[in-house]
Amino acid sequence: PGLRIGLTGGIGSGKSTVARRLAALGALVVDTDAVAHALTAPGGAAVLAIAAAFGPDMIAADGAMDRARMRALVFGQPAQRQRLEAILHPMIGEATRAQASRARAGQAIVFDVPLLTESGTWRARVDRVLVVDCAEATQVARVVQRSGWTADAVERTIAQQASRAQRRAIADAVIVNEDLELAQLDAEVDALWGHWVAK
Ligand code: ATP
Repeated sequence: PGLRIGLTGGIGSGKSTVARRLAALGALVVDTDAVAHALTAPGGAAVLAIAAAFGPDMIAADGAMDRARMRALVFGQPAQRQRLEAILHPMIGEATRAQASRARAGQAIVFDVPLLTESGTWRARVDRVLVVDCAEATQVARVVQRSGWTADAVERTIAQQASRAQRRAIADAVIVNEDLELAQLDAEVDALWGHWVAK
């Protein structure tokens, strides 16, 4: 396989936007959030194990994990969060490995992993770490605009994630996605691609 790039950044930093550009440049993008979502969707491979561990109340009427209820349970409760992660992480590992195995010879693989900084396992699976960074106020504004969450809810999520300094400390490259037109952001990604991947 080609270079394995771990792409990370806080909520609303611009990871998905950067990932789309990397895909356009030829990378195989593996979106770990999408994988986790599929595992906990109706009929998802993790649903039965979650019901067994947390009780049938954690499953919504449509057969998916009840996300709002689970978020409320694990929020600020590390032991509960760890129980959920003990179910999900091995499944995410397996599913992302299967996706990555479909890369063409030499094709760069981008793993979009929001919590890469928090995970030694993920850091060990990539050759380079690319961090997308911006001010917290910018994260809040973007997420409020995109999803209609309250600013408070976004701030609480930011507080639970790694800090900007922690992310920068493990980065091989940082893209500062602040006051950038999308075309400028694309140009930054293209430059990095030229540096790391295209020969
Ligand atoms: P999350 O972790 O919440 O999934 P993310 O890090 O993947 O977020 P994106 O979805 O890429 O972030 O970006 C968040 C929002 O901000 C999107 O609506 C995106 O279009 C917008 N956005 C990101 N970067 C820029 C930019 N440079 N200029 C304008 N809008 C931007």
